[in-house]
Amino acid sequence: ATTQVDERLGAAARDFLGRPHQLFIDGQWVDAADGRTFGTFDPATGAEITQVAHGGPEDINRAVAAARRAFDDGAWATMKPNQREQILWRIGDLLDAKAELFGQIEALDNGKSVAIATAVDVAWAADVFRYYAGWSTKIEGSTVNVSMPFAGDKQFHAYTQRVPVGVCGQIIPWNFPLLMAAWKLAPALATGNTLVLKPAEQTPLTALLLGEVIAEAGVPDGVVNIVTGFGDAGAAISAHDDVDKVAFTGSTEVGKLIVDAAKGNLKKVSLELGGKSANIVFADCDFDAAVAGSVAAWMFNHGQACTAGTRLYVEDSIYEKFTQAVADAAAQATIGHGLDPATELGPLVDQDQFDKVSYYLRAGIEDGGRALTGGGRHGDTGYFVQPTVFVDVEPDHRVVTDEIFGPVVSALRFTDVDDAVRQANDSIYGLAAGVWTQDISKAHKVASRLHAGSVWVNQYNGFDTAMPFGGFKQSGWGRELGQGALDLYTQTRSVNIQL
Ligand code: NAD
Repeated sequence: ATTQVDERLGAAARDFLGRPHQLFIDGQWVDAADGRTFGTFDPATGAEITQVAHGGPEDINRAVAAARRAFDDGAWATMKPNQREQILWRIGDLLDAKAELFGQIEALDNGKSVAIATAVDVAWAADVFRYYAGWSTKIEGSTVNVSMPFAGDKQFHAYTQRVPVGVCGQIIPWNFPLLMAAWKLAPALATGNTLVLKPAEQTPLTALLLGEVIAEAGVPDGVVNIVTGFGDAGAAISAHDDVDKVAFTGSTEVGKLIVDAAKGNLKKVSLELGGKSANIVFADCDFDAAVAGSVAAWMFNHGQACTAGTRLYVEDSIYEKFTQAVADAAAQATIGHGLDPATELGPLVDQDQFDKVSYYLRAGIEDGGRALTGGGRHGDTGYFVQPTVFVDVEPDHRVVTDEIFGPVVSALRFTDVDDAVRQANDSIYGLAAGVWTQDISKAHKVASRLHAGSVWVNQYNGFDTAMPFGGFKQSGWGRELGQGALDLYTQTRSVNIQL
């Protein structure tokens, strides 16, 4: 079915949808080499929104060649850092100026509410570009007082430089399409790299809008290349001998494929992968705040967040009361189309994700759990599921061990701090964790024992652009955001001069 233009879209969004959606290579908008296109769909209705160029390995070759030329000609890497800073800052400002357009297209393509898309995805993406704009002028090496024990009385002047890695391949998922692009592009550009971005096939549209903004802001041709396509395009990036680094956000399964593919030229690899994060609620918490925060922890973005707090550990003495309050609050969420201003919970992104979550809704019951609320589909069109709270679950149940990536939480009991920490750490993942208690010492002690890259106390999803983010264990390699991301996109050269 082709789409009716949605009347809730503004003029700019309609105009964008009416234009061709091509690949962005070497500063030009071009068709895929073989002319193919693919459809992107509204997950609230299943209807096609528009067709997008279907980039494949040959297009990746073209994009990598453009990025290589742009890196080698030095127009970006050797541009004065304060000029790079201004361009990145301009990207942030353009995102803010076009927030309504970006928010509407993101809501339509991904399914999330337009209010969240605008206030979180777009506003934060702008913040990320401005944060890394500032780093452009602050990439420093050091001077080193070398001893050179075998060089007698000779004198030396030794220093380090931090230089860009080169051509970066960046592969991103569909859950925060624009924001993940910003997390990838901004630090890579601030440090002088050139790149090829491969958006997720489910949500290619805001990356193409970002390409327009990048050109408008004055990024030189070839520095940023955007190739929409499927896993084969991603695989071509990770196997490419002329790509110096690959940065990936997505599933742990695909992350492992990327590590294998990167072996050929031993390109640098950073990975932001899956999670099954523990959210620990002690009996001495602020009850109402913990209920609201714990619901948001697993329902935010319809559970399609790598940090989703989907293992809810509640201290024995408040378990019944707390889980019932969580279920009651979840059941009140307004479910609807992302472009509807009242919507709090939108659809899952596509049929595959709907089938995967539906499988786990059945598995929760088959393994012996009980749904306090939810448990099935919502409505009969689109990919909506009811927010679901499972109780009576055991540590080996599939809904407890596996990442579901939908609005589904499993609530378990614990007896004391040791028991809570042991259960929370019992996972192959280690991305994030939440702790709710009014005892500040207990909060610090528990935080220091959790095997997780981010720990949030008396809040959840407490991200900030300046705070490093990434995973322990199978949740990934490396840290994005903050100063940490600069390490992913620079390498150190040591220079030692005999005077
Ligand atoms: P996915 O791994 O299937 O796809 C992610 C991206 O990889 C897409 O662009 C896809 O086209 C591409 N891809 C697919 N096969 C590839 C291959 N063989 N080689 C290279 N690229 C390939 O993940 P998804 O289903 O799009 O996203 C959901 C998953 O992402 C979840 O598991 C979630 O936990 C994870 N995720 C993690 C983070 C994080 O920061 N840690 C953030 C968002 C999502």
